[in-house]
Amino acid sequence: MQLIDGKAISGQIKDEIKKQVAKLKEDGRSVCLAVVQVGEDPASSIYVRNKHRACEYTGIESLNYTFPESVTQEELLHLIEELNQNPKVHGILVQLPLPKHIDESVVVKAILPQKDVDGFHPENVGRMFIGEDGLVSCTPAGVIEIIKRSGITIAGKECVVVGRSNIVGKPMGLLLLRENGTVTFAHSKTKDLKEITKRADILVVAVGKPKFITKEYIKDGAVVIDVGIHRNAENKMCGDVDFENVKEKAAAVTPVPGGVGLMTVAMLMYNCLKAAMKQEV
Ligand code: NDP
Repeated sequence: MQLIDGKAISGQIKDEIKKQVAKLKEDGRSVCLAVVQVGEDPASSIYVRNKHRACEYTGIESLNYTFPESVTQEELLHLIEELNQNPKVHGILVQLPLPKHIDESVVVKAILPQKDVDGFHPENVGRMFIGEDGLVSCTPAGVIEIIKRSGITIAGKECVVVGRSNIVGKPMGLLLLRENGTVTFAHSKTKDLKEITKRADILVVAVGKPKFITKEYIKDGAVVIDVGIHRNAENKMCGDVDFENVKEKAAAVTPVPGGVGLMTVAMLMYNCLKAAMKQEV
């Protein structure tokens, strides 16, 4: 079995970005990401910290805006407008989820599409849908990169995506289609899930349930990509795939930690660089 090394692959990507950012700096240009966090959800705080660390590594400037849970939607929208207008800020990321009194979709739509480095704005989603250039959602973009950079071909392969959320499952399927995979979406209403997943040459799992996929769900020689992130009571991480159980049967698997999660952050850095290059030409 091939252990797909998200640490090495995301490291390669961050090194490529670091070089390009340094080149831009030689020309007197810069790349800057603004991260907005509301409240102190521990998981969100870890993600925000990892994003700032990756910025530091790649030479991307990062600005941090933290609001208490009680912040109003208007206050948040006011900051986004300021960041939209600020020519020194190239990427804006609002860490989700937001408190219930704030409408996430209003906040996401308030970000200028060219600064929407999460790729969640309907304009970027639409561009991806029709195959136009735009900012693509980081996790599914990271899955495509980790597959390709592991030397695995997508074209012509039977690809099954378990999960159809707007941030992972749906864009994931579209990107696999764009790479000429033959794509099936499975979800909570799918009948005979095992029969569907066992058809997959490439199985991408974004189901949000710890160790849900076991060897009974995969065919011999499948490539299994685990998007899930869970922490148990001892703070130990696992994915949506039971890694130990599938590893004898699969041809290649991404581990958790050390897989897709690291790719998400690397692709965020990629989107920041791309946004900055587009905005300054
Ligand atoms: P959601 O909860 O939004 O979506 C889960 C999907 O799984 C839904 O489409 C749901 O179907 C489907 N599903 C639920 N139960 C079953 C079942 N029994 N059989 C088949 N399908 C089922 O989760 P997300 O897409 O946001 O995230 C998925 C996982 O990825 C989570 O573990 C999350 O933590 C992780 N994640 C990791 C990231 C990373 O950087 N690596 C980034 C984002 C998320 P239905 O639509 O019918 O309800």
